Amino acid sequence: MSEAIKTDVLIVGAGPCGLFAVFELGLLDVKVHLVDILDKIGGQCAELYPEKPIYDIPGIPMITGHGLTEQLLEQIKPFNPTFHLNEMIEQVEKIGDPGFRVTTDAGKVFECKVLVVAAGGGSFQPKRPPVPGIEAYEGGSVHYAVRKMEEFRGKDLMIVGGGDSALDWVLNLHPLAKRITLVHRRDDFRAAPHSVEQMRALVASGQMDLLIGQVTALEGEGKELSAATVKGNDGSITKVACNSMLPFFGLTMKLGPVANWGLHLENNLIPVDTGTFETNVPGIFAIGDINTYPGKLKLILSGFHEGALMAQKAVKYVYPEKRVVFQYTTSSSSLQKKLGVN
Ligand SMILES: Cc1cc2nc3c(=O)[nH]c(=O)nc-3n(C[C@H](O)[C@H](O)[C@H](O)COP(=O)(O)OP(=O)(O)OC[C@H]3O[C@@H](n4cnc5c(N)ncnc54)[C@H](O)[C@@H]3O)c2cc1C
Repeated sequence: MSEAIKTDVLIVGAGPCGLFAVFELGLLDVKVHLVDILDKIGGQCAELYPEKPIYDIPGIPMITGHGLTEQLLEQIKPFNPTFHLNEMIEQVEKIGDPGFRVTTDAGKVFECKVLVVAAGGGSFQPKRPPVPGIEAYEGGSVHYAVRKMEEFRGKDLMIVGGGDSALDWVLNLHPLAKRITLVHRRDDFRAAPHSVEQMRALVASGQMDLLIGQVTALEGEGKELSAATVKGNDGSITKVACNSMLPFFGLTMKLGPVANWGLHLENNLIPVDTGTFETNVPGIFAIGDINTYPGKLKLILSGFHEGALMAQKAVKYVYPEKRVVFQYTTSSSSLQKKLGVN
């Protein structure tokens, strides 16, 4: 087990509500680490609708999902939060009153006084492709994300899919892998045109293979793959040497491990006290889409309000002796100092 990273607050989820919570906690001198399963910051705004305009952020008539994420990151810069991306929080153990030891699926351990669950609709999890018997190879030769590129050095690698993830990894892993075969069900790709062009150039110069069709069977021993069979759209059958596979079939949202942390749940949502956004476990708060209370609206602006109230209670756990005085950013020179504007 790695040495624990100690922090005042750990936030599960770097969506818009987790990000704004960093601001509200920062104004109260509370230090934050955030963990997110995704390889990017911004939650649904970044993953599901980066280019779509949002019209109901107070004071901003129109901003895209990507734009809002960028602005939130700019706003929290003075507080210098630490992000741990590509990691899922799996386990939460109580070690204090309050105090928690939190472990990710990559084995990273945090010790925090307060845990803020800003996990939205739950964890984005990869969709499993309809390949018979693929489960047997998961965690061995079949991976749904790239954690360490080195793992693919010298491998006969099959990448399946036609979106940005599939094409980006074809291009990034091409210099490392022994041979890459890209399999997609049609000869038309959703990925960025420039990536598609680069991939086609590699195919044309014989540096990788492209098969149009579907993976229908896998061969191997234990968790180790040795070959995959691809049925072409023209009916042809091709057996390809393959000892690593990366399928990219999109993401789905599931509650995931949040269900096992001892929190009360109602229809897969976490009930909270609306004065503090604390859950049934003292020291664990839930903000944003993951919580429920009478009248809840799953809107970004609701999550911002929830983050502000959560911070007022969380700070009492972090600094039990400190008297917290309510202040405006417009007029408080001490808040302006923290923001680096005075
Ligand atoms: C197409 C679309 C359009 C929308 N338009 C609007 C709009 O116009 N206005 C508006 O206000 N709202 C809109 N919404 C809703 C808005 O996006 C959500 O209310 C908002 O994203 C909720 O933010 P959040 O931070 O609570 O959660 P999310 O944005 O869902 O982020 C949660 C994050 O937590 C991570 N996570 C979950 N579990 C774990 C775990 N165990 N370990 C580590 N990380 C974890 C996830 O990977 C995710 O990144 C829209 C939603 C969609 C899908």
